[in-house]
Amino acid sequence: MATSIRLFIDAELAAGRAVPASAEQAHYLAHVLRRGPGETVLLFNGADGEWTASIAQLGRRGGGLLVGERTRAQAEEPADGPWLAFGLLKRDATDLVVQKATELGASRILPVLTAHGQAGRVNLARLEAIAREAAEQCERLSLPRIDPPVSLPALLANWPAGRRLAVAVERRAGLAGPAGQGGLLVGPEGGFSAAELDAMARHAFLEEVSLGPRILRAETAVIAGLALIQSGPPATLNRVDPHPG
Ligand code: SAM
Repeated sequence: MATSIRLFIDAELAAGRAVPASAEQAHYLAHVLRRGPGETVLLFNGADGEWTASIAQLGRRGGGLLVGERTRAQAEEPADGPWLAFGLLKRDATDLVVQKATELGASRILPVLTAHGQAGRVNLARLEAIAREAAEQCERLSLPRIDPPVSLPALLANWPAGRRLAVAVERRAGLAGPAGQGGLLVGPEGGFSAAELDAMARHAFLEEVSLGPRILRAETAVIAGLALIQSGPPATLNRVDPHPG
């Protein structure tokens, strides 16, 4: 299939259905990519897999797409990727973290208010748009859930006890290993405070991990950490027995 234009559509996808494109998507198709009626794109909605669709019409207020055939089943993607929690950073760095965490398969992204991090609110709609674009680009079939910022104590109090949480802490020996369907917590540019590290040490689901001997920027630690904790064998998804029978 030649086309690689992928759009996230907030509508059910099934063969023969007409679905709407938003004004932004219609503008992007018509004026950025110079596509028009009859041309093919790929659609996904986080539930029904990936589908071809032909452009029916594009206008200033939106467009129409006609769904064709399914190209990928939703089950091709693990239903529950790692969760990423990170000490809130400045806006550009937070944007980068959301983009890269989406590319690296995080199923949930939790900004955390920490003693040495940025304070305040995040624009969730803007972060969701960044995640949507990243998912469209990287051939993901789903979008991560992005939570409003929570305090570190609230994050730990509400963390599911059965989900391992790898906390990245600099100047520790070793290297983070696979964490299955767990999570990663990365501190802000100022790092975690001693009191925060002490409080975290009391939780059995939590384990300090190293990302190597250098002090990484928080964004780099997110990328390296998500790669490392997923570096083990995948769960059992789509395993093909090489010696059937
Ligand atoms: N201000 C801290 C300092 O000077 O020691 C450095 C904080 S670092 C820029 C931001 C976050 O990235 C840390 O809180 C930690 O979660 C993570 N990080 C950076 N380098 C790391 C490493 N080598 N191993 C594990 N985590 C690391």
